[in-house]
Amino acid sequence: MGKLLIKHGTIVSMSSERGVIKDGYLLVEDGLISELGDVCDLPLLASSDALIDADGSVVIPGIIDAHAHPAEYMIREVADELLDGEARVRRWILPLYENMTPDVEAMATRMFLEEAASCGTTVVADPMMMNVGSVLEEVAKVNVRVVAGALSWSLRDRIYTEPKDALAALRRIEDESSRRREMVIPLASAVDVVNSSYELLETLAVEANKKGLIFTSHFGFSRNELDLVRKAGFDVERVLIARVVGMPVEDAVKAAGEGAGFVACPYTCMSNGGGLGRRGMLPELSQLGARVALGSGGLSSPGSTDMLRVAGLAALAFKDSRFSTSVVDAWWALSAVTAQAADALGLDKAGRFDEGSWGDAVILDPRLRGSGSVVGDPLIYAVYRGGCHHVKHVIIGGRTILEYGKFVKQR
Ligand SMILES: [Zn+2]
Repeated sequence: MGKLLIKHGTIVSMSSERGVIKDGYLLVEDGLISELGDVCDLPLLASSDALIDADGSVVIPGIIDAHAHPAEYMIREVADELLDGEARVRRWILPLYENMTPDVEAMATRMFLEEAASCGTTVVADPMMMNVGSVLEEVAKVNVRVVAGALSWSLRDRIYTEPKDALAALRRIEDESSRRREMVIPLASAVDVVNSSYELLETLAVEANKKGLIFTSHFGFSRNELDLVRKAGFDVERVLIARVVGMPVEDAVKAAGEGAGFVACPYTCMSNGGGLGRRGMLPELSQLGARVALGSGGLSSPGSTDMLRVAGLAALAFKDSRFSTSVVDAWWALSAVTAQAADALGLDKAGRFDEGSWGDAVILDPRLRGSGSVVGDPLIYAVYRGGCHHVKHVIIGGRTILEYGKFVKQR
């Protein structure tokens, strides 16, 4: 793989210094970022195999969807929006998972990834793959990175996973990960902690500890779920708590203090009337030093794969519910789908433009859809006005997969 040079854009690095380079350049070599800086410092005769002129555009790191359910692509917008969350799970989501054939799940996942990539998402975390083999085979046809976990659900009578089957599925993901390094990243996961057998959690914990995997699960169904996870043997610093809205505040604060990460899905939560703003706690948890991330979540209710839209929605929900402009800012919201999300998923090469990071970038250009240019703060632009419709180019591992809003045929 050669050298790709992106120049003249406003580069939003998402590095810890909150660096924004007004007229910058980014050089990607062999899939990794090798240099970034001010265009003035770029040697006149800098050579590259490919060049993107990002003049007038904003360049951000590849976007991360830290909690997605791609299989639900098949039941998008089918559920009556007046149904509550529980009814939606019973009437639509459980039957979907019970009847999901390998082909349908694989196709749903691929369509999800393609749509997500067209919105600038370069990493999708799917903690609930059912037919791991067929899904991974299909995923390999799209150049989007996948953080993959197998569906492990053991006490509900309808979908039952034996601990040994959960382990076999996770091993299958690890095999694929060793073949497609850095494109498939294994994740230990259970649907929820309360309805998982202790044996299942213990089995997953042994594997997660051996391989240094992040463990994720939907929390917030009862008290002391963290104690259960700890007792099963998981390292709390490598636990990613999904569905934080139902958690008792003191449990969440305790988990944050012990180094757990958190992911919330604004569309799912808000469309269910779940109270993201009031009970989501993400701004406060990140003030305590916790890594927080956002996900697209379920799609049977109103949902979106456009993570910039998700980030903007979350920021507005937190500001509005707390009657405060200062509770979060655009940097926080963007980092919850880039830098902080990478930290939450244990991806040390994603979410930031640093030398040695993955060469994943998104070039946003409002003029692509005839909108006015970016005049002021590029972060405020990206979070509150950017989104799918402004995604001009998407680069994953130095390879341009979307050009002028259209997929590039991969050679
Ligand atoms: Zn979920």
